[in-house]
Amino acid sequence: MKSHYRVVIIGGGIVGTSILYHLTRRGWSDVALIERAELTAGSTWHAAAGFHALNDDPNIAALQSYTINLYKEIEAESGQNVGMHMPGGYSLATTQARWEWLQAECAVYQTLGIGARLASAEEIVADCPIVDPHGLLGGLFDPHEGAVDPHGTTHAFALAARQRGAEVVLRNRVTAIRALPGGQWQLETEQGRVTAEHVVNAAGLWARRVGRMVGLDLPITPMQHHYLITEDLPTLLARPDEMPCVTDLEGFTYLQQERKGVLLGVYERNPRHWKTEGAEWDFGMDLLPEDIERISPELAIGFQRFPSLAEAGIRKWVNGAFTFTPDGNPLVGPVPGLRNFWAACGCMSGFSQGGAIGLVLSNWIVDGDPGADIFGMDVARYGKFASNDRYLRETTAQFYARRFVIAYPNEELPAGRPLKMTPSYDAQRAAGARFGVVWGMETPQFFAPGDAEFEEQPTLRRSNAHQLVAAEVAATRSAAGLLDTGVYARYEVSGPGAEAWLDHLLASRLPTLGRVRLAPMLAPNGKLLGDLTVTRLAPDRFWLVGSYYLQEWHLRWFHDRLPSTGVKLENLSESWLGFSLSGPRARDILATLTRSDVGNEALPFMGAGLFDVGYTQAVIVRVSLTGELGYEITVRASEQRALWGALLHSGADFGLKPIGMRAQDSLRLEKGYGVWSLEFAQSYTAAMAGLDRFIAYDKGDFIGRAAALAELATGPAQRLVLLAVDNADAEVTGFEPVMGGDRRVGFITSGAYGHHVRLSLALAYVDTAIAERPESLSVPVLGTARQARILSEPPYDPRGLKPRS
Ligand SMILES: Cc1cc2nc3c(=O)[nH]c(=O)nc-3n(C[C@H](O)[C@H](O)[C@H](O)COP(=O)(O)OP(=O)(O)OC[C@H]3O[C@@H](n4cnc5c(N)ncnc54)[C@H](O)[C@@H]3O)c2cc1C
Repeated sequence: MKSHYRVVIIGGGIVGTSILYHLTRRGWSDVALIERAELTAGSTWHAAAGFHALNDDPNIAALQSYTINLYKEIEAESGQNVGMHMPGGYSLATTQARWEWLQAECAVYQTLGIGARLASAEEIVADCPIVDPHGLLGGLFDPHEGAVDPHGTTHAFALAARQRGAEVVLRNRVTAIRALPGGQWQLETEQGRVTAEHVVNAAGLWARRVGRMVGLDLPITPMQHHYLITEDLPTLLARPDEMPCVTDLEGFTYLQQERKGVLLGVYERNPRHWKTEGAEWDFGMDLLPEDIERISPELAIGFQRFPSLAEAGIRKWVNGAFTFTPDGNPLVGPVPGLRNFWAACGCMSGFSQGGAIGLVLSNWIVDGDPGADIFGMDVARYGKFASNDRYLRETTAQFYARRFVIAYPNEELPAGRPLKMTPSYDAQRAAGARFGVVWGMETPQFFAPGDAEFEEQPTLRRSNAHQLVAAEVAATRSAAGLLDTGVYARYEVSGPGAEAWLDHLLASRLPTLGRVRLAPMLAPNGKLLGDLTVTRLAPDRFWLVGSYYLQEWHLRWFHDRLPSTGVKLENLSESWLGFSLSGPRARDILATLTRSDVGNEALPFMGAGLFDVGYTQAVIVRVSLTGELGYEITVRASEQRALWGALLHSGADFGLKPIGMRAQDSLRLEKGYGVWSLEFAQSYTAAMAGLDRFIAYDKGDFIGRAAALAELATGPAQRLVLLAVDNADAEVTGFEPVMGGDRRVGFITSGAYGHHVRLSLALAYVDTAIAERPESLSVPVLGTARQARILSEPPYDPRGLKPRS
């Protein structure tokens, strides 16, 4: 071991070795992996090591495909057999709801280019004769399902990396990490002291402990997981080829052929954590005691679905631990607040994702950019709240127990709630609010006034809350709606350097005093990093408003670029809260609560100012996402409850109704407005999203300008369009393919029913040629192709007169 490296990776599991390999592939060979024991000594050695390409997040699905395609490559490069076999795999549908769900999922996978297809029950049983056909309706076949040898694969990454100059140091625990004044890291190890420019925490089962060495509390925790391996099965002995893998989604089990027997793994509904702080330092390559009684309900279903298992003996039981985060995705990327300290942990699916983590993390370290939209894996997608012990236990257990359970688009899950509430939460609840959760914040979805018993049923179709949402939309279009804006993040940027800094950070021109602007924020490669609004409250005082759940992510970007003097950045997201009041009567309602002039001249569209509203002192910005005359009224958190009371009281005479996010979705789609993570995301450029009209190309340099100018010259390959879809009893949800005949010409980003215009609406990215010369299109809605047409203008208030009225 040398005394200094450019990068030190802590942990020699599948993730750490993949990062080591990928860094060398990027030409960085002054890199070392330091491993406490032997390679694979954490979760990796006893993994079932199955892999698949399917993932609900298309960006992660693409990266999983990358991981799978890499296996043969590293085998060839390293000369180490990775034991890869890929017979494909079936996900079974044994209920009507599941069958419908799989048909919808299949359409999405076609968008992603994963060659998944539907299969009949007969086909599945013919291909996998150990499956009992009882109740089987069909399934989804993923040709990219299979398994590798975890030992061989990990060693192949390490060998290939060493051949390219990297170093692997075994039996050497890292015991302490210190930040040196010059910006380097100093690591104490059992074999001595070493410094590094970059440190990567790929410590798997110990990652939380390694995080604590630098003052971090990562939201990851190990959980127990069982599988069994049977003796040989006669059916498989008689078969020359390998049987495809099978996941019995309603049965909570997955199965893959293991030599001439099978491996059956269980995601039980009654899961158990193991060492929430992480494994002890002296934990060896040990298994945990089996707890067969606890998993027996799921095992019993497994033995019904695969009856021949009962005839074979069980050769081996494995109960091992691996780490989970609240949403089951890993924590990857630069840790906010710690320069050049990287996370690559919390990975529950190392054999589907390990290669991808190596790729994006090495890109990020070398280029300062991951090279793909990996928000779903980004360590900055969580805030500190997620590391609370009870929150973490409940949310990870919920994820584990629901690993194979259908996720309905209208479903709100209970774990870790309620945690964060705006002060008017109880009042909104009393008014009938039904809440969802965004980054721990309780957020009204819709209101069921006067009906304490009302419960929305999870469904892929229009739910029993459809008419309640319709009433909120109607109130907003005819009178006014009131929406809690607790789901917004707010930042104040002030000081003598604020204007220059923001001007460089944002692609738009900055507003003049008392005005607001929509401000796309770009990465150097021109991809979107934010759809912010910026308001100038004083010559050197600005407010930025963005999405609440992006706080850590945006703050990391801001802080990395903040000058050491002259600019003060404050996160006001928890200390300032408010409401969006919108609708034709919004001004009348506001006027009853303030002595100030809120007329069109004093407070015009895209204007802003400070006003007394009731007893509160409010910042008012005249914008709305509903397409109506609207005001975002923001007050100190302690005054938000008073503001709610005042607005509702005064609004009663004008027909004001509290509304939830569902109504907002309906209203925004009637205007064709996009939102972050659906229409606007790191994968898309401003020109694709139609946000280029807010870019001030001529204002001087700003981040992403060169790339945006280049795109201005060529035009984007795809554009965001608004579609009207033939009415069914369900809406599209996202990533369904948009078809022009039998050609895929785009994909859906979001859908909602436009209650006022009575249209099933969707936003979609389609090929530019299609956007410019619309043709007859179709999209699958729950597996059935429906006609869709591009709307050349929004169906509601196409000239945009209402917000300016
Ligand atoms: C029973 C079971 C079945 C599974 N089945 C599958 C499956 O089918 N498919 C799939 O994709 N995944 C599966 N997994 C999960 C998979 O094992 C993990 O996703 C993967 O192994 C995580 O790899 P890692 O490199 O992040 O962590 P680990 O394998 O835990 O590696 C971390 C390494 O860091 C080292 N380390 C920790 N602290 C220090 C320190 N201070 N100094 C030096 N070194 C340190 C450890 O010794 C260890 O070797 C399964 C897991 C189990 C337990």
